[in-house]
Amino acid sequence: MNFLSLIEAKREGKTLAPEQIQHFVREFTTGRIPDYQMAAMLMTIYFRGLDTAETIALTLAMRDSGDVLKFPKDKRPLVDKHSTGGIGDKVSLPLAPLLACLGFRVPMISGRGLGITGGTLDKLDSIPGFQTLLPAEKIVTQVQKIGCVICGQTDLMVPADKKIYALRDASGTVPSIPLIVASILSKKLAEGLDALVLDVKFGRAAFMQTKADARKLAKAMVALGNECGVNTRAILTDMNMPLGRTAGNWLEVKESVAVLETQSGRADLPVSQDAPQRVPTDLRSLVLDCAAHLLVQTAKSKSFVGARKLAEASLNSGAPRKKWDDMLAAQGADLDAFNQRLRLDSSAKIVAEVRTEKSGYITKCDARIIGEVVRDLGGGRLTKESAINYDVGVDRIARPGERVEKSAALCRVHASDKAQAEVALARLKTAFEISAKRPVKTPLVVEIIQ
Ligand code: URA
Repeated sequence: MNFLSLIEAKREGKTLAPEQIQHFVREFTTGRIPDYQMAAMLMTIYFRGLDTAETIALTLAMRDSGDVLKFPKDKRPLVDKHSTGGIGDKVSLPLAPLLACLGFRVPMISGRGLGITGGTLDKLDSIPGFQTLLPAEKIVTQVQKIGCVICGQTDLMVPADKKIYALRDASGTVPSIPLIVASILSKKLAEGLDALVLDVKFGRAAFMQTKADARKLAKAMVALGNECGVNTRAILTDMNMPLGRTAGNWLEVKESVAVLETQSGRADLPVSQDAPQRVPTDLRSLVLDCAAHLLVQTAKSKSFVGARKLAEASLNSGAPRKKWDDMLAAQGADLDAFNQRLRLDSSAKIVAEVRTEKSGYITKCDARIIGEVVRDLGGGRLTKESAINYDVGVDRIARPGERVEKSAALCRVHASDKAQAEVALARLKTAFEISAKRPVKTPLVVEIIQ
């Protein structure tokens, strides 16, 4: 097959056959197509797009470029959640053990953060001893035994995506819906799932800035996931403000544990009550929503309302908190060191507060500014090679709608030195807006796409 003629065909708006797509994905992954030709193909796809059959062919070819997880037959459905990423998004951490307690198997293969969005693996790397790189056999064994795993993709899984994504990053072809769909779903399909819930975020700190673009991406992923035999649903969620009250790797792990430990009635104490473990209702609610959708998608529950009650009862029972410890122990964590660390107010050298200059209602808490601050404190990466400081971040973040009095704390910064903390404090001040009028409450989940 002549790859140049395929580039030319696509350039002229022709449709490629599934075998042609399978062939060039295989050839590129094994190094028989040069980067410059593949970059040209990606750019023609960026401009010309792919139809549904072509996108399916690309997704399946990418999935099949490496190992696919194979699980023994079991009555527990295989499920997962994928988020397009945002600030303070730690839903995966409490969700995986909750799903395991609800009778699912959860092979949650996650990624690292780049830029302002955090990555689940970076958060987990802040846990003493926790291993995120596991061979495929260990992933399967742990899921069968404990019900859940959260780990990284092995080198042998979906190698085509690794190579293609690096080229997209360097050739300005990341924001193409068919390429994004194939990239995300090829990795999820390699987990051998029965059902998948997608959290597609929109807003200031999201990959998709507008609701319309997020909806377009969500619809494309739902259609393709279902076509490929995985029951797929998406929720569109607001990422203009951070999720929960923390952003920063270790701080987010602490907040995730707080979600697993908090009973519904005790969630979301007001900001003026500076309790160290305030569990925000938005985060807890999103964890429960994701679990409820998967219960309905797999026909374990008939209605969403019933499913949510079931998920809430499980979370309140404390069983997912124990499951979390089981998962940590299975992945090598030092539980004593972990629990000791949980008791510390901060593991960073400096903790400082951002204080209000006036009383009123918080009308804005800009997730993008908070994400940039955390990244610049060293909690995120500017390049793929950057080292991470797990202890820095922002916590006790006040949220829109909350009332604050003059001089009250709006958030705390955890930094590695005083100068860094001062820069962060000045920038964090600009993330908040305060007004005399209480703002209209906006929903977190704005749409469900199925
Ligand atoms: N995340 C992915 O894994 N792939 C994309 O193309 C975009 C976001």
